[in-house]
Amino acid sequence: MQDRLKLLQKLAGLTDEEVVTLGNTGGLPSDIANRMIENVVGGMTLPLGMATNFLVNGKDYVVPMALEEPSVVAAASNAAKIARVKGGFKVTNTGPVMIGQIQTVGVPDPNGAAKKIAAKKKELLAKANEQDPMLVSLGGGAKDLNVKVIETIKGPMVIVELFVNCGDAMGANAVNTMAEAVAPMVEEISAGRVYLRIISNLADKRLVRATAVFDKEALGGEEVVEGIVYAYAFADADPYRCATHNKGIMNGVIAVALACGQDTRALEAGAHSYAARSGAYKPLTTWKENKDRDLVGTLEMPMAVGLVGGAAKVHPAAKANVKILGLKSAIELAEVMGAVGLAQNFAALRALASEGIQKGHMKLHARSLAMSAGAKGEQVDVIAEKMIAEKKIRFDRAKDLVEEISKKR
Ligand code: NAD
Repeated sequence: MQDRLKLLQKLAGLTDEEVVTLGNTGGLPSDIANRMIENVVGGMTLPLGMATNFLVNGKDYVVPMALEEPSVVAAASNAAKIARVKGGFKVTNTGPVMIGQIQTVGVPDPNGAAKKIAAKKKELLAKANEQDPMLVSLGGGAKDLNVKVIETIKGPMVIVELFVNCGDAMGANAVNTMAEAVAPMVEEISAGRVYLRIISNLADKRLVRATAVFDKEALGGEEVVEGIVYAYAFADADPYRCATHNKGIMNGVIAVALACGQDTRALEAGAHSYAARSGAYKPLTTWKENKDRDLVGTLEMPMAVGLVGGAAKVHPAAKANVKILGLKSAIELAEVMGAVGLAQNFAALRALASEGIQKGHMKLHARSLAMSAGAKGEQVDVIAEKMIAEKKIRFDRAKDLVEEISKKR
């Protein structure tokens, strides 16, 4: 690591201070960091905040969130507080099943081959399960398969899909290993050639469904309820709005995922491909009024997370965060993340449908601006408060104020 840093210092003209900053791996010991990815020079730290008030399936949680964006942790905590009035979040799941795909091309009789492969299901599943006796002993493993013929620009392809119960693992390595192992059998049966053997991140057999009732008084009145339902209708009808609607959900989901050492790219890919599964891009949540005119929110999305394997088991901070959550299984983590996603969406829509997002956000943003303009320590709050009082929450103003303060000194 030190050699790489020295090289980098020369290459990019880094100061000694910058080298020290980059080389600091924070709560992640450097020898672990150095083995997690390649060409490691140091660490990249994010703030870790704790969201409060979460009541999920009758259990209280303090929820670790790692992210750079102000107001997300506050918004989640506040939304969870409102959800508590009517009993918190109820979350269910479809089990931890991931899909592994085997792509077969150049098959002389694709439909005939598909039938033959399906007839060999038992043997194929047995071959897959031979690869992971550990997973099988825990009740997981390849449970079923599906064969489909798809038309592509390169002609028909036979796609074999393995359905693997991954237990407490995210499962990508486990599923990929199984897909690779059964590929020669698929080639033999189909008389075709296998190319890709890989997990699908459209994890639609590993869904969480979260729901919560938000009391109309606690959230600000019937007009706000109506505004949120209108906001949902907007997202449902318009992909430009829907992208931001779903981004708000991912603010919560990804922050918890990062804190717990999860594969955030897998979660993003799963979320957005699931949102587009009908062919149109749709919201991952729904919002409506119930007969008492309270607001009812639901969220349904793939949540491929694990507590064994990946960074969850290696990163000391991730391990500590999993302990804070008091998790017993990967499914429990998925359910908490579903609740956080729903809470985050509620908070954003509530702000948008009432005072607008900027009022709450800009106060926190003012502090970020002050810091990026060079304010240090107590200066940050002094400058942020001044900008808020002046209603000039802008980078140029922050810069002027930093200069003013340093001149006074
Ligand atoms: P892994 O292989 O490290 O761990 C899973 C294994 O742990 C299982 O196969 C099983 O043998 C064992 N195990 C022990 N206790 C278990 C339990 N209680 N439940 C289940 N399994 C248990 O990791 P993984 O979860 O298979 O793979 C995750 C990693 O793969 C992540 O780091 C991810 O980033 C990466 N990855 C992702 C993709 C993708 O999403 N497209 C592709 C390749 C790799």
